[in-house]
Amino acid sequence: MIRKKTVKRTRTGAGIEGVGVKAGSGGPLKVLMVAAEAAPFAKVGGLGDVVGSLPSRLAERGLDVMTFLPLYREVGLRGYEPEPTGVRFTLREPGSNRECGVRSLESGGARYCFLEEPGYFDRAGIYGPAGGEYPDSALRYSLLCRGALAGAEALDFRPDVVHCHDWHASLAPLNMRFGEGLDRWREVRSVLTIHNLSYQGAFGTQLMPALGLPETVFTGGLMEYAGRLNFLKGGIEASDVVTTVSPTYAEEIRTVEQGWGLDGVLQGKGSLLRGILNGIDYDSWDPARDGALAAPFSARDPSGRRANREVLMGQLGLYPDKGAPLFAFVGRMVHQKGSDILARVIGKMAEEGLQVVILGTGDFSHEESLRVACNPYPGLVSLTIGFNDSLARRIYAASDFFLMPSRFEPCGLGQMIAMRYGSLPVARATGGLKDTVVDMDVDPDRGNGFLFGDADEKGLWEAVSRAVKFFRSGALPAILGRVMSEDHSWRRSAGDYQRLYEDLLAMKGV
Ligand code: ADP
Repeated sequence: MIRKKTVKRTRTGAGIEGVGVKAGSGGPLKVLMVAAEAAPFAKVGGLGDVVGSLPSRLAERGLDVMTFLPLYREVGLRGYEPEPTGVRFTLREPGSNRECGVRSLESGGARYCFLEEPGYFDRAGIYGPAGGEYPDSALRYSLLCRGALAGAEALDFRPDVVHCHDWHASLAPLNMRFGEGLDRWREVRSVLTIHNLSYQGAFGTQLMPALGLPETVFTGGLMEYAGRLNFLKGGIEASDVVTTVSPTYAEEIRTVEQGWGLDGVLQGKGSLLRGILNGIDYDSWDPARDGALAAPFSARDPSGRRANREVLMGQLGLYPDKGAPLFAFVGRMVHQKGSDILARVIGKMAEEGLQVVILGTGDFSHEESLRVACNPYPGLVSLTIGFNDSLARRIYAASDFFLMPSRFEPCGLGQMIAMRYGSLPVARATGGLKDTVVDMDVDPDRGNGFLFGDADEKGLWEAVSRAVKFFRSGALPAILGRVMSEDHSWRRSAGDYQRLYEDLLAMKGV
């Protein structure tokens, strides 16, 4: 079930006093992570990928990492059975006592702890029933934050840094600074990572007494925003450092256009708001060892891509390969991802004889406009509505170009996976896409895709046309190996997080 890996305590000399080792005391740097998701135990999106990969990459660098997430029913359904630790405690809410337990397991050299409170977490969905959200989300995640601090303490895990993810974990830094009976946490440093600013956890003020925090945190300088409780805002204000998942997104969210109302608060963080790019899990995303593919291939020998392409095109009922480029889209069909923009260029692409494979699910209106756009072009365009990991992998392996017309993109994993599998991104220059994709026409030596500026049909079409021109010039095979060997792994990102933790400890004078 859990693949146990040997953890190497590496010492490459890149950090202070040896990698992963705290200056001064010589002990390993201890990090407590708090999040609502971690792959493979419970995952809905990119957040789960990050919290599933980062702890073990940090452990490989010699850090001691404990991650807290809820014991959702989903964890058992996915086949994981964390062991009881014997730790039990009670957290008070007005009118009720929440009896909590902690279970744990080890994965990739890092310890995952699961907060057990069946009333809140033993439910059908992670966040809510299909397509919805449970009405007591605020209380569920408030309990996660308080439970993570109480659980770490009971397990005698004394972190140097608490690293929280998104609004669900945002009350942890507030509890550390203001929580009753939590004085010991006042000196511990905190980091909050924003994976998507559009989700903030905003709730009515009537919930305040249930959060176990003093009423004084409901002020404009902490949790209050537009007369409501805003978990993410409170977390941003209370943590020592805020990070987001790409340097460009870190700049964009300081603007009115992309700040979702919190641009002023984020500007106020100054240099304490930083962007650190996500990576992709190179064990999971490896075309040489990917069991979903018809033929393995690698950067050194990408010839297996041809077989993948022929098999996929046959399976999806596309006309056999006649030398036209194959474009792909895999992702959520929502406004953010620009799937409506794609729907508006499908006709034009098909008329040009280009072939397109689309896989995704999302808002009904977006799915419907893609259906209408794709329907007239059987053989040229294939549309699959649904979530299908194996098909997604085969699409990355078979396509020449990967479309990401996102309106905003905090980091984006699709473009990095596509490059590793030999499909060049055609992407809007925003957020993490801007940080990872280099336009081939701007810099032919470093180019790995095509970028466009305007989030509209004209912008996307212009970039697609340049990609087609490049394909027809016959230059693609010569650069494929270079693009596929670029490093988009967690190795790089984990090093950046480690340096951030070390900077924080230095600030504290440890
Ligand atoms: P998001 O904003 O959705 O997190 P990312 O680009 O960061 O977008 O990550 C998307 C991840 O989800 C990628 O691994 C992509 O392959 C996968 N994915 C998205 N939609 C689907 C789908 N319909 N079927 C299979 N995998 C999908």
